[in-house]
Amino acid sequence: MSSKKRNLIERLNSGPVICAEGFLFEIEKRGYMSSGEFVPMVSLEHPEALENLHRDFQHAGSDVVQAFTYNGHREKMKVIGKEELLEPLNRAALKIAKKIADNPIGKEPNLMAGNISNSNIWNDKDPKTHKEVEKMFSEMVGWAVDEGADMLIGETFYYAEEAYTALKVMKQTNLPSVITIAPMGENIMRDGFSIVDTCKELEQRGGDVVGMNCFRGPNTMMPYLKEIRKVLKCHVAALPVTYRTTEKHPTFFNLPDNNGCECHTPHKTPFPTALDPMQCNRYEIGKFAKESFDLGIKYLGVCCGANPMLIREVAEAVGLKVPASKYHEDMSTHMLFGTDKRIPKHQKDYQDKA
Ligand SMILES: [Zn+2]
Repeated sequence: MSSKKRNLIERLNSGPVICAEGFLFEIEKRGYMSSGEFVPMVSLEHPEALENLHRDFQHAGSDVVQAFTYNGHREKMKVIGKEELLEPLNRAALKIAKKIADNPIGKEPNLMAGNISNSNIWNDKDPKTHKEVEKMFSEMVGWAVDEGADMLIGETFYYAEEAYTALKVMKQTNLPSVITIAPMGENIMRDGFSIVDTCKELEQRGGDVVGMNCFRGPNTMMPYLKEIRKVLKCHVAALPVTYRTTEKHPTFFNLPDNNGCECHTPHKTPFPTALDPMQCNRYEIGKFAKESFDLGIKYLGVCCGANPMLIREVAEAVGLKVPASKYHEDMSTHMLFGTDKRIPKHQKDYQDKA
């Protein structure tokens, strides 16, 4: 019997693959990153904190350990005046991801994924930026290959042509490539391509897994996923943010707090520091994952707002049992709402007054 690691496509052909994203928000919540700046210095400054988060996601059922290099690109490092740390940061993040992926809880190793994403400088009207972005992608993908990535993820693209460029660079490595787009509130890519056409083109250009991630919650991502799944033959990815976005506010950027907020954010919007009241509960996330899976979407996860509990919910919603399933909710022994015969009657009777 071969002990060869099954690659991403082999795994998708035989069942769901879970991928935890949303490192930015979760590491910020854990106190190791500045919101707004959002640069993953954590791999250099607090590697143990990043390792812990990867382990927590692994325990919750993530099959993919995605190197935390989101925003760790040359442009953002220039913005914060730390360009000299670009390569050390990338290599540190990749090494940490590799270490976790190679030390699974079960028998099968996880897949380590290199990661590139939206550059923030891509401008459809300025071809000079295209060359610059391609160079940024190439150096990051090169480091990922060097550090032993099993697959590559290009994510959160809101310009179609920037996504095509990312895919082109990833394809040069022959590693399985996941490419996901994140259209903003106008429901169209910023260079004018429709969401579905962009996904069709990404499939044509050789994307192994094509789909959507970030910016949109389940409600405003699902309608597009249905269309995408219908027209694509390749595997499809679905990784929404975990916030209750609406038709009027399709992304989390301008989502208002209509939940009785009495202490408003000092910024213009609840994004990114005061989104908590709009967080989806675990059942909403589970319902989204199940619905996606029933449509035939097999690469599943959540992006910003992700936490281990929600990753477990995604995994369990598509029929998987993961290490954290040991701690799946069990209300039967709760002190008020439990059904166990040892729960005293005077406690059960008090439920409605609690
Ligand atoms: Zn996200």
